[in-house]
Amino acid sequence: MFEKVLIANRGEIALRVHRACQEMGISTVAIHSTADADAMHVRLADESVCVGPPPATESYLNIPAIISACEITGAEAVHPGYGFLSENAKFVEILEEHDINFIGPSSEHIRLMGDKVTAKTTVKDLGIPVVPGSDGAVTSNEQARAVAEEVGYPLLIKAAAGGGGRGMKIARTADDLNEAISTAKAESKAAFNDDAIYVEKYLGRPRHIEVQIIGDANGKVLHLGERDCSLQRRHQKVLEEARSPALNDQEREQIGNTVTTALSKLGYLGVGTVEFLYENGEFYFIEMNTRLQVEHPVTEMITGLDLVREQIRIAAGMPLPMDQNDITFYGHAIECRINAENARTFTPSPGLIRDFHAPGGLGVRIDSAAFSGYRIPPYYDSLIGKLIVHGRNRNECLMRLRRALREIVVDGIDTTIPLFLDLINHPDFVNGDYHIHWLEEFLAETT
Ligand code: ADP
Repeated sequence: MFEKVLIANRGEIALRVHRACQEMGISTVAIHSTADADAMHVRLADESVCVGPPPATESYLNIPAIISACEITGAEAVHPGYGFLSENAKFVEILEEHDINFIGPSSEHIRLMGDKVTAKTTVKDLGIPVVPGSDGAVTSNEQARAVAEEVGYPLLIKAAAGGGGRGMKIARTADDLNEAISTAKAESKAAFNDDAIYVEKYLGRPRHIEVQIIGDANGKVLHLGERDCSLQRRHQKVLEEARSPALNDQEREQIGNTVTTALSKLGYLGVGTVEFLYENGEFYFIEMNTRLQVEHPVTEMITGLDLVREQIRIAAGMPLPMDQNDITFYGHAIECRINAENARTFTPSPGLIRDFHAPGGLGVRIDSAAFSGYRIPPYYDSLIGKLIVHGRNRNECLMRLRRALREIVVDGIDTTIPLFLDLINHPDFVNGDYHIHWLEEFLAETT
């Protein structure tokens, strides 16, 4: 096992990784920008290294500085968290050249799934159902038009390099097509310096359901059930739950088996998430994330497994200590993403948290790097914490979430907490009856 791990991230996820390391007897190295010198992840780590000025491109994405930090401190492995360098194949290769372990999948698998066009064709060949659409990238508007005639409108134009919902445009009719293609291309070029696109059928009211998987170096791949992340705004997840209120056990088993069979053919190592849209009883693959997800705690709550611990063990060459039959699911879990944003306009609200009080009690978990007196810097994403609740069933989970949301105090800045307080009383949410556009429709009706 590793003796020292460098955590190449900040905020709640850096703390999350630190906690797993501590419990495994591994010492930790935090990296930070000058803006984060007093941050909680720096305070708790055994050692810390400043890797640059506030902009992420000069600090948390500064590969030479991070490699030097490993060398200076003698860290044998790097945990990337999510975001930043977590899906950067080049970074993984540079670490390899320096004999430093990457706690995550191979650079080959990161690259394969990072390009959404190759990802889609690869998983399709492995037997995973995909959204009907173009076979690979489309290089001309005529080609897109031909696909549209086959699958029908509305059509979704998507960036091959896409992420965070950028480079995604809908063509409702044939008249919209040319414009949708040129805006998607321009947006993708600006965001990812790549204007390759592909097209697929736009599904009207699907749910977003994703399957968590984990694979070891012996080729064993297990699934840890699904998460429902249908509550989204601008294609960004806002609240996640496990298990999905929409699936029955037969559907769960079927999609779990399809995914594990496919990923074991690929020899996938580490944790990963296969994302689907689900409509009228059918699953359609949209993408695979080759890293730990923000919403991983809901899976941990219902399986009792520590996903970060498993990631570290796998990276150290250890086999998964369980089989699929050993994985059991208990109760229900919900996660609310608490962002430093106005709950209605979603305008970022960085600044001083005057008072922070975390809720507690049975079944309540807070993953956050915030504290009273913490000043949220304006340079990074607005996630300040995750409130995760677990109950024996969905109803108990909802009751517990309601009281935890009433207990939590984050004073001095705007947060998304009032939005969750509104949601928790809505009959559609209480009944689990929602889809990927539901939240935006709710916001439009109530704002
Ligand atoms: P990104 O990597 O940019 O987040 P994804 O492919 O994961 O892109 O899609 C993000 C979200 O966009 C999905 O959760 C869903 O809300 C929506 N979306 C993606 N593909 C489709 C589709 N074919 N039809 C309808 N909505 C879609």
